[in-house]
Amino acid sequence: MMPAFARVLFHVDMDAFFAAIEQRDRPELRGKPVIVGAPPNRRGVVATASYEARRFGVKSAMPSVTAGRLCPQGIFVKPRIDVYRAESHHIMAILADYTPLVEQVSVDEAYLDVSACVREPDPLVAIPASRRLARELKQRIFIERGLTASIGVASNKFLSKVGSDFQKPDGLTLIPEQEKRAFLRPLPVRAIPGIGPVSAARLLEFSFQTIGDIQDSTPERLRAAVGSFAERLHALACGEDDRELCFESERKSISSEHTFDVDTNDPQLIRATLLDLVADVAGTLQRKNLTASTLQVKVRYADFTTLTRQTTLQEPVCDAAEIYRAIRHLLKKEKLLKGHIRLLGVGSSNLNEPSGQMNLFLGNQPSAK
Ligand SMILES: [Mg+2]
Repeated sequence: MMPAFARVLFHVDMDAFFAAIEQRDRPELRGKPVIVGAPPNRRGVVATASYEARRFGVKSAMPSVTAGRLCPQGIFVKPRIDVYRAESHHIMAILADYTPLVEQVSVDEAYLDVSACVREPDPLVAIPASRRLARELKQRIFIERGLTASIGVASNKFLSKVGSDFQKPDGLTLIPEQEKRAFLRPLPVRAIPGIGPVSAARLLEFSFQTIGDIQDSTPERLRAAVGSFAERLHALACGEDDRELCFESERKSISSEHTFDVDTNDPQLIRATLLDLVADVAGTLQRKNLTASTLQVKVRYADFTTLTRQTTLQEPVCDAAEIYRAIRHLLKKEKLLKGHIRLLGVGSSNLNEPSGQMNLFLGNQPSAK
């Protein structure tokens, strides 16, 4: 008999991470609508809202002005990035106790391959074993860090992510392989990671309301709605996803991307997002003591058309300002910033450890950061 899972993956996602840290550290904020981000009287956006604030409709990436209007009693808190980053290291260290096979996807999110921890020939044994392990992991995070996480357990990345989203906060959702299609069927298309309100509206125009509607669609109809993304979307709707986990040690490229909640052409938001992505890539390069000789930029437009352009530099880089300059230049030269944008990505490849000379050069810079 085939085991229930070819692989057992966890997707661990911290609940309202920044806001939860603030509520943990400042007891007076507990149970209150906390909004981490720019104050409501200034330009800027919400980084994270506590669940109490979400009840008013406040969401990540929403302009703070809007958040202030939706939730006048919201308590705006200035982000403490260093604290969040340090907390992230603690959480990732706990995850690494269970398996070395961890792919960290963001400051508060990771995939774990725990197949070896729960390997059982009998699916009736493996499922409770997976559940027990996930529960234990959640408990450890709560006891040691005072924070809650949601975990999705399934055989692939997509399903485990859908699972961690399913019962947030403090959720634990296991999607057995043989039940995956049935599990996905009733969910709205928005439950598919990357499908935002605009794509959902587009899908709705073609009467795709639930994931089941996508499962049942002909390829032609789906192609009419989402173009070249159709095949991938159909596979996801059926719970198929063969992406491998990507471990740092075997990384050949370092990249970061962001899908906007609402497709945008706002230069301010695009610039801020690019700066974030560049800072993310530069931070990872520096942490790994790597430099990149090639930089890529990826733009996906409202109609799902995706363009990728790259440039090879004369001198390898790992500095955020230099990467930003090169990316900006590339976007301009290739005229990529036109119309409404759905996703932006920044990547680096051709990675190398800096030569001795390069090290010396970096070491001599007046301020490394
Ligand atoms: Mg999270």
